Amino acid sequence: MIGGMQDFALRISTLIDHAAQEHGARPVVSRYADGSIERSNWAEVAHEARRVAQALERLGIRPGDRVATLAMNHGRHVAAWYGAIGMGAVLHTINPRLFDDQIIYIANHAQDRVLFYDAALAPLVDRLKPQLQTIAHFICFDGPAPLEYVRLTAAEDGDYRWAEGDERDPCMLCYTSGTTGNPKGVLFSHRSAVLHAFGGIQPDCLGLGSASAVLPVVPMFHVCAWGIPFATAMAGSKLVLSATNEAEALCDLMKAEQVTHSAAVPTVWMGMLAHADATGTAPPPLQRVVIGGSAAPRAMVSRLMDLGIGVSHLWGMTELSPIGTVSRKGANFEALSREEQLDLLEYQGGAPYGVSMRTVDDAGNVLPRDGISSGRLQVRGPWVIERYFQDESGPAVDEEGWFDTGDVATITPDGMMRITDRAKDVIKSGGEWISSVILENEALGCPGVAEAAAIGLPHPKWDERPLLIVVPKPGAALCETQVRDHLSTRVAKWWLPDKVIFADSLPHTATGKLLKTALRTQYADVELS
Ligand code: ADP
Repeated sequence: MIGGMQDFALRISTLIDHAAQEHGARPVVSRYADGSIERSNWAEVAHEARRVAQALERLGIRPGDRVATLAMNHGRHVAAWYGAIGMGAVLHTINPRLFDDQIIYIANHAQDRVLFYDAALAPLVDRLKPQLQTIAHFICFDGPAPLEYVRLTAAEDGDYRWAEGDERDPCMLCYTSGTTGNPKGVLFSHRSAVLHAFGGIQPDCLGLGSASAVLPVVPMFHVCAWGIPFATAMAGSKLVLSATNEAEALCDLMKAEQVTHSAAVPTVWMGMLAHADATGTAPPPLQRVVIGGSAAPRAMVSRLMDLGIGVSHLWGMTELSPIGTVSRKGANFEALSREEQLDLLEYQGGAPYGVSMRTVDDAGNVLPRDGISSGRLQVRGPWVIERYFQDESGPAVDEEGWFDTGDVATITPDGMMRITDRAKDVIKSGGEWISSVILENEALGCPGVAEAAAIGLPHPKWDERPLLIVVPKPGAALCETQVRDHLSTRVAKWWLPDKVIFADSLPHTATGKLLKTALRTQYADVELS
């Protein structure tokens, strides 16, 4: 016997149809790189997406073909997503901040047939074009290129029925940034993306509804802007997009469009706060900011809360579409002291319905949820990867479907997860583990510290010992003793770095994370005292 309800396929086209039908007048506002503002709404985006689908069919694109984008956040990019996916193609977002070799590898590996791109990225496209083996059509979103987006879609009437198919069909392809080896492709299905959107809009996740106005600073090429273009269509929220990431432009846009929710990596919020300090202007009156991609520094969370902005800390990764855990404040958050609230927000949060998580030791034994035992974090669920795109080496999960995230974490009895490190970045000292992430976060709380990185250097007695590299704030006169004194009251004595050195800047990955591999090479010869 099977259930008596409809076997309604969870496809991305149902999201844009819902947004157009039920929330058609809710605005979709774009600020382009030249500062121009384009006002649209969900009904118009849906119509434009149908015209994109028709145009792609006319170019000979077939279901399953890969359609790539190399673009910042704007409404045309959103319409291209829904249009390409709606006609059955697989939308492949490429991160323009990757190295040339990585972009070439990714586009060729994905066998992209079409590339939509921003005029601002035309020099990059022109440079790489000779090596992009499979792309037959280059479509510029906003420039006077031969296959210009506006001309191409204007030729269509939008009278189009979305392709039908199984909800398990692929819809999007995202590559991990690959700090070692080649990037790997994660192929989302319609079903996984729709379920992820259901998860994302929940009150304990992004908390979106039809009254929300959402500006995802996180780029659409960074794990689909954390699914926000899908989640906002599902919730009927206003969507505000900015093709540039400068703090001033973002603040102005947030104020002008009365943005309530935003999501970004920590460096963006640091930039926004620094801009407010430097100009003496008030930061935008947001209801909630979601911080993820790397650990949210306590001092920054505290500043945002002082401004009356609710903070959610999100942990995720490309392989999880990307939402893994989000801060769960619980019933008595308001009754807690500020320090207790900050303690809670330092956790990466709890798993929403749809994500199961556990930690295991090196032998694979499941560890207790006691908030102390630290081990490799594993997850499974309907929006977690099963196998990488065209990877012959087999599934990415064990026999029971658990995916090893490569992160090291603890979980409390009430399900609060805390990342203590990347497995490969943990500093192993005398058989015990020192968390580089905690050292960095504590160092960030020291006045005058702009950025900090902790790495393990080989040590004859202890195996490895920590080196802390600090970037001082402009004009700050910092010395090693100040940083060590600050840390000495906050971490165990044996965690204290053997040496603190100062640098002008630190290397980052294309998605803004500290590039620890480069740091380990660069500082390999430093002598620990
Ligand atoms: P990206 O494209 O952002 O680099 P990845 O999937 O490669 O995406 O990065 C995922 C990794 O980023 C996680 O495994 C984790 O190590 C780190 N990360 C993400 N969010 C957080 C967070 N809130 N706190 C600490 N680390 C995080």
